[in-house]
Amino acid sequence: MLKEFIQLIYPDFCSGCNQPLLFSERAVCSSCLIEVKSSFVSDSNTFFGRHSVNREIYAFKFFKNKLLQKMIYEMKYNGNKDTAFVLGVELGLLINNFCKSKNQDFDFIIPVPVSKIKKQSRGYNQCEYIANGISQVIKIPVLNNHLKRRNNLKSQVNKSRYKRWSNVENQYFMTRNISETNKILLVDDVVTTGATINSCIKALQVRNNLQISVAALAGNKE
Ligand SMILES: [Zn+2]
Repeated sequence: MLKEFIQLIYPDFCSGCNQPLLFSERAVCSSCLIEVKSSFVSDSNTFFGRHSVNREIYAFKFFKNKLLQKMIYEMKYNGNKDTAFVLGVELGLLINNFCKSKNQDFDFIIPVPVSKIKKQSRGYNQCEYIANGISQVIKIPVLNNHLKRRNNLKSQVNKSRYKRWSNVENQYFMTRNISETNKILLVDDVVTTGATINSCIKALQVRNNLQISVAALAGNKE
């Protein structure tokens, strides 16, 4: 009741179309959600650099979808955590359907980390919120403190593809070990060159050959 009263005075707006949200909606209005839901799944044994992953799962066709681009911008640069969570739930539903049909499961979800400096300036890591959304659906715990990113990176924007790739090499490290029998779902927001994922997988597999799958809201790996 109180929430509804507050929303009457200060309505929340959709991160896609900027229209006021209904009481039942969170972060993204239902018509925007329907519009961006053109899900696709790519299948097993794909490679990020030299590292193989079991499976890649993407929820949205990013580069053709201006609406989703806007939502991801809101989530990354305007502190819209709810959008990250809501899109994470959508990704979770997709993963759930997919894993049921393939009889596949995971032991832990690990979000791609941001550096401590970036987390402080942005206030949060959007990948953790996407992971929380997935976790709510597939009921697998999220590990936020096992994989970390070093602090010494400047913004990747405006760097060439090669520079971006070599820049993230060795930028991730494990703070705790994970048993090699565990199956990991690594979660990123958007996969472009695959450099970040490649570097994360490398860090996760330093001690043993963990089974890793990758999920992201959107991807356009070259
Ligand atoms: Zn909308």
